[in-house]
Amino acid sequence: MPKDYYHTLGVERSASADEVKRAYRKLALQYHPDKPTGNEEKFKEINEAYQVLGDSEKRAQYDRFGATFESGGSPGGAQGFGFDPFEVFQREFTGFEDLFGDLFGGAFGRRRTRVAERGDDRATDVTISFEEMARGTTRDLILERLRTCPTCGGSGAKPGTPIATCATCAGSGVVERQVRTFFGAMLHRSVCPDCGGEGKRPQTLCSACSGTGRAHQRETLRVKIPAGLDDGTRIRITGEGEVGPRRGPAGDLYVTVRVKRHPAFSRDEQDVRSTIAVPFTTAVLGGTVEVETLDGKTTLEIPRGTPSGSEFRLRGRGIVIGRRGETGKRGDHVITTVIDVPKRVNREQEELLRRFVEAGTLRR
Ligand SMILES: [Zn+2]
Ligand SMILES: [Zn+2]
Repeated sequence: MPKDYYHTLGVERSASADEVKRAYRKLALQYHPDKPTGNEEKFKEINEAYQVLGDSEKRAQYDRFGATFESGGSPGGAQGFGFDPFEVFQREFTGFEDLFGDLFGGAFGRRRTRVAERGDDRATDVTISFEEMARGTTRDLILERLRTCPTCGGSGAKPGTPIATCATCAGSGVVERQVRTFFGAMLHRSVCPDCGGEGKRPQTLCSACSGTGRAHQRETLRVKIPAGLDDGTRIRITGEGEVGPRRGPAGDLYVTVRVKRHPAFSRDEQDVRSTIAVPFTTAVLGGTVEVETLDGKTTLEIPRGTPSGSEFRLRGRGIVIGRRGETGKRGDHVITTVIDVPKRVNREQEELLRRFVEAGTLRR
């Protein structure tokens, strides 16, 4: 199937050059892979279509030959013309400012032409206790990461030395070369490899970081761990990964939270669950037992005739509700009774129990 370039750009065959251009610009910005709405495959198709329809000569050729144009009836075929979607894009959006102004909403600041390289993400684990999970906690993480070089402040230049215009690109940040393609010679523009597109580079490199603008640093980072996280939850901390070379944006830090098992407590949504052994005499006659909670020991009233498996709910003694815990609300602590039957009784106790049995049939 030959590609329908008009369809790709969403224009009529009769569309004016201006209409084609406008349709292309809109779609190219929408699908640029650096955008959240990006789609590399679509981006490629759009640029391929515009490479042809955006040029009156090629468009006429395409209109005349259509399918043969695509199916290789031409020298080298369509695959052979060394198509680079980013090249088409850069040529159309001349001046990188236009490009990045549109693309990133000027987020990189004034006249910044370089596509700043982002630093790597980092990942680490922390293990917290059940109690810390229930209340939320903080942890001081000791991290060894590539961060901004303290000697040069990230510029890569030896302190006190000037940052000069890049000789390779004469300050434009762009290098151009001629590329021969099926459509004839094309000008290939790319980011200057020596200055990374900045147009400037340090005259004398910072010796601490060899001009990279970053250095290994051991730092302590305080991380807030909200209450109620499940074991294995990953928290993302934006910008706490490694910084990019020469003031490039930092990657993120991912912290995987491990929650240790508690010997007595388990979790049921926002509630804590545990069991309590109640002596069979207390279960029959009623009384009190001491129970462990997140807030320490407390006394639980056992009514007369409490069966095994009874549940007692201690309101507000469970897990903090809400990520930031600002509501002050907590789940409950649910305690299940297990009747504790003595393995052995002494002679006197046995005598009493036999008399108890003789006194009448047990009734529920
Ligand atoms: Zn440095
Ligand atoms: Zn340069």
